Amino acid sequence: MTMKANVLVIGAGIIGAVCALKLQQQGLQVSLIDAASPGCGVTAAGMGHLVALDETDQELDLCLFSLRLWQEFFAEHPGVGEASHCGTLWVAENEAQLTEAHHRAQRLNARLWRAEALTGDQVQKLEPALRQGLAGGVRVFGDSVVYPPLIAHFMAQQLVKQGGQLLLGKRVLSVDAGTLTFEDGSQLSADTIVVATGMDVARLLPEVAIFGRKGHLAITDRYPGRLSHQIVSMDYGQAAVSADALAVAANVQPRPSGQWLIGSCRQDQQIDTSLDPTALGAVLQVAMKLLPCLADMQIIRAWAGMRPASPDGHPVIGPHPILKGVWLAAGHEGLGVTTAMATAQLLADQIAGRPCEIDHTSYLPSRFFTMRSLKYA
Ligand SMILES: Cc1cc2nc3c(=O)[nH]c(=O)nc-3n(C[C@H](O)[C@H](O)[C@H](O)COP(=O)(O)OP(=O)(O)OC[C@H]3O[C@@H](n4cnc5c(N)ncnc54)[C@H](O)[C@@H]3O)c2cc1C
Repeated sequence: MTMKANVLVIGAGIIGAVCALKLQQQGLQVSLIDAASPGCGVTAAGMGHLVALDETDQELDLCLFSLRLWQEFFAEHPGVGEASHCGTLWVAENEAQLTEAHHRAQRLNARLWRAEALTGDQVQKLEPALRQGLAGGVRVFGDSVVYPPLIAHFMAQQLVKQGGQLLLGKRVLSVDAGTLTFEDGSQLSADTIVVATGMDVARLLPEVAIFGRKGHLAITDRYPGRLSHQIVSMDYGQAAVSADALAVAANVQPRPSGQWLIGSCRQDQQIDTSLDPTALGAVLQVAMKLLPCLADMQIIRAWAGMRPASPDGHPVIGPHPILKGVWLAAGHEGLGVTTAMATAQLLADQIAGRPCEIDHTSYLPSRFFTMRSLKYA
């Protein structure tokens, strides 16, 4: 196969698809490659909550940068990806969580992301399906919910409409400076190659150390009108999970269909996405504790997915320090949908040699490279 594109983006998940479209819109000629089809990887296994997480200032910077770009996108493309601007209701079950909820409201308001601290009664009034006796919470107005595979599909379609190319059913076996090799032995060359293959980054570029953090989800039958916000327990977090531990926190999302999508948990050192009844049971248990009516609702499907995580919990966005012309957009763990827009912008700015709107240095792949670990050295 002979073809010279300006940019080859490998992986049409939410990350690769958004990056490909952004680069095409910046005047580059982009080919987006996927072993299967757009959005069929972990992008199809997650919750699609566009959320302002604020465990660190850096995380909040990235989320807010991205969420504002998402807002512009939805203003231009209303309804794409089943977008619902339902907001998040963080629920505090005790005084310690309530204090943290109030801090969250302050932090978000200070960054002009509107949030309102609530008493237990106010939380209950807002969402009557929640159990009585909660300590309070915080309502975040600008957060949204999307169906991520539809967004990836839309981005890929837009890419083609805007002159880019989509190569589906083509698995990349290896990547080198300026060239990628498919499993049938054929090759493509380009000055710029973006690797956005989710979990498969661990195989293509093992030195980046992407690993899987497993999560279980379940979805109910249709019960329209019973829930208005994404409900998340204040003990939800991305904090690193110890070896074989299971971290579980209630996270329940109203789908436009009236279904409730129930999560979630985090488990490291898992080798596949098979269903673990213990983990799934724990997820349902904590959700039922907050929303007792779940006990009478029908679960119609459950599944697990692997969040592609990096060793320091931050995504990996920028140039490969050794392979000239190879760029990474990976390791977004449980925030890849939220931060896809920011990732694409940071990547496009770096490729173009422009200054980035937020500090991009802590996302650079070079932070994981030591001379000892380089297979290329
Ligand atoms: C349970 C769970 C809940 C989540 N909830 C949320 C949430 O509420 N909000 C949020 O923001 N994020 C959430 N996430 C995280 C989010 O889903 C991921 O961060 C994001 O989807 C990662 O996208 P990606 O494009 O990097 O990977 P993927 O979606 O896996 O895309 C990679 C693509 O590359 C292709 N590919 C792989 N290898 C090759 C190869 N060798 N050659 C060619 N193509 C290849 C695959 O076919 C795939 O299409 C959740 C994840 C899980 C598991």
